[in-house]
Amino acid sequence: MINTKVKFLGGAEEVGRLAIKIEDKNDKIMIDYGVEPDKPPEYPLPPEPVNDIFITHAHLDHTGALPVYYHNYSAKLHATAMTANSVVPIINDSLKIMRLENYVERFNEDDVENLFRSLVTERYNTDIELNNLTARAYSAGHIPGSSMWRFEDSFSFMITGDLYTRDTNLLKGARPVKTDVLIMESTYAGRDHEDRDEVIKRLKDSIKETIDNGGKVILPTFAIGRTQEMIMILRDMNYNIYVDGMGNDISRIYLDTPGFLKDYSLFRKSLGRVIKVRNKRMRKEALENGDIIITTSGMLDGGPVLGYIDSLSDDPKSAIYLTGYQVEGTNGRSLMENGTIKIAGATIKPSMKIDFFDLSAHAGHSDLVKFIKDIDPWTVVLCHGDQREKLKEALPEYNFILPYNGHEFEITN
Ligand SMILES: [Zn+2]
Ligand SMILES: [Zn+2]
Repeated sequence: MINTKVKFLGGAEEVGRLAIKIEDKNDKIMIDYGVEPDKPPEYPLPPEPVNDIFITHAHLDHTGALPVYYHNYSAKLHATAMTANSVVPIINDSLKIMRLENYVERFNEDDVENLFRSLVTERYNTDIELNNLTARAYSAGHIPGSSMWRFEDSFSFMITGDLYTRDTNLLKGARPVKTDVLIMESTYAGRDHEDRDEVIKRLKDSIKETIDNGGKVILPTFAIGRTQEMIMILRDMNYNIYVDGMGNDISRIYLDTPGFLKDYSLFRKSLGRVIKVRNKRMRKEALENGDIIITTSGMLDGGPVLGYIDSLSDDPKSAIYLTGYQVEGTNGRSLMENGTIKIAGATIKPSMKIDFFDLSAHAGHSDLVKFIKDIDPWTVVLCHGDQREKLKEALPEYNFILPYNGHEFEITN
């Protein structure tokens, strides 16, 4: 009998700051070490030394605490080339923000340097031999480069990271992979998404209506994935589209890291249709000539988006259209719920139109249920969600574990 010990350092019963430590005979590994994107960010439990760390994808709630790990310990850091490349601007930016906002300094330049030096790029569907375990990455369909990590010894376990099982403009959906124990995200447990094509149609109709009535549209988007998908969604709309913020750096990385997109040449073509904002002067130009401004941050907690909203806040013809998950406590959530946001300490209530379009890159409840049934594992461990029991209730025939942060448990064959 083999005992494999699992401990969530974060992200068990919450969306964000995922960090999973696993011990299997001579292998000590960790999957992700992220933060809860708040002001200041919330960290997982303190790191524990491992030999290998596997990153599911570049989003901060999966990578933001990694420099803290490298402040204390070292380990090989495995990621796909796309994730490895995307993580660099993300981590550099969080160091910058930590300094700018005078947060408690939990790491420094050296730790970030150590982290980058530890990166080993891995291919999808290719075995990586550890001491006893064999690891393998499969596309998770969430953002380009995102991986489900499957490990095999005498039995197998797989961590999905953030998961999307349907095709989008950017990516093909994740396919089920046979595994004995499935450690799965559950952000949307209990909730299903509106049909994606319908949402995109509604978004484009609303954009057209706003611009035809003399307004401008601000699209706050995450730098990684959503900015690029939005550029592709809007490619056939004949408007002046400006893109501002870190999304431009990530688009460059997507161009420079081929092999991860569903349709690379269509992405390149779509990118050629938008104007990249590179400086203050161009920001003015975007406000004067732009019809649509795609910009970070996606949850409105900083970044150029606040400047644009500040400039347009008295214009009832203009609109802010949110398209991503808005975490509680963020400006984006406050805008959705109360119509207010904080800019430089002051609370403002823009007169602009505000609407939400669910373009989530997380599988909805029914797709999660289908994914479990397709894989048919012995045990399902649910994490990265605050409504996990909804999935357990939907599948009474399966054995579930709903862990909590800090609790160590065993998965056994
Ligand atoms: Zn996540
Ligand atoms: Zn994510």
